[in-house]
Amino acid sequence: MMIPPTTEHLEIALNTSAGQIATAVEVPTGFVPVTAIVPLIRRFGEEAQALEVARSVEAGQPPSCHKGCAACCRMLVPLSAPEAFALGEWVRSRPTDQQERIAARLVETKSRLLSQGLWARLSELCNAPEQPSDDALEVVNREYYALRLPCPFLEEEVCTIYEARPAACRELLVSSPPECCDDLINNPVDPISVPILVSTVLGLLWQELTKSPTRLIPLPVALDWANGHEQENQQTWKGVELLDRALDKTWRFLSQSMSRSGQDSVN
Ligand code: SF4
Ligand code: SF4
Repeated sequence: MMIPPTTEHLEIALNTSAGQIATAVEVPTGFVPVTAIVPLIRRFGEEAQALEVARSVEAGQPPSCHKGCAACCRMLVPLSAPEAFALGEWVRSRPTDQQERIAARLVETKSRLLSQGLWARLSELCNAPEQPSDDALEVVNREYYALRLPCPFLEEEVCTIYEARPAACRELLVSSPPECCDDLINNPVDPISVPILVSTVLGLLWQELTKSPTRLIPLPVALDWANGHEQENQQTWKGVELLDRALDKTWRFLSQSMSRSGQDSVN
């Protein structure tokens, strides 16, 4: 008896500010949770970013980022809700000893943030009924960064969740000298452009699916948030429908960012 295929093969082409990406994807044919779409959208983001990096290399400005260079891992990393759920699933799939190490580091980070009065504020940011304003986010970002608190997933200056790290971490590449990143507020750094902001796309998708605000969840509280909202992650959609909706958000993002950069180059 033939076993029906569980995925559908699709070829997707996207025009980004760095050039066209053409990607073959396997989309689940059945009903899947929103986390199933996260790796696909990340792939689009990474392929577009690879084009941007190639342009930067050609212009004589290769990325300075390398393994063990982690001054940037003291910044507050925002995740979309689908990424927070995906990270929770990834952590639960790890061997027990790794899960225990992660839990211990998260407890340590929580205690430090509690002592600075920041834990409650980070939790409020991702549970507020409205999306907080950019100004409110900036204030918290600066206070958090002033602590120079290593990311709870950083061990000996190496990311321990590299394959599952948030899109915001994947997207931060600079061509300026690494030492400039010791003070990202006062030093000039040259970031390499990001054609597709994956967390923004996934945040917009989540907003549409759940009729909730486009939440950006700070990494230190992301697993707590995902545990507390696990019920919302039980909902499923047809894989192709999820991809369609996610592509719609990606196209909108790309067309807005390309029309903004067109305006910038005119002004
Ligand atoms: S952004 Fe800066 S600190 Fe982070 S890896 Fe790149 S060069 Fe190093
Ligand atoms: S998740 Fe990894 S890459 Fe991102 S801030 Fe933490 S240690 Fe750095």
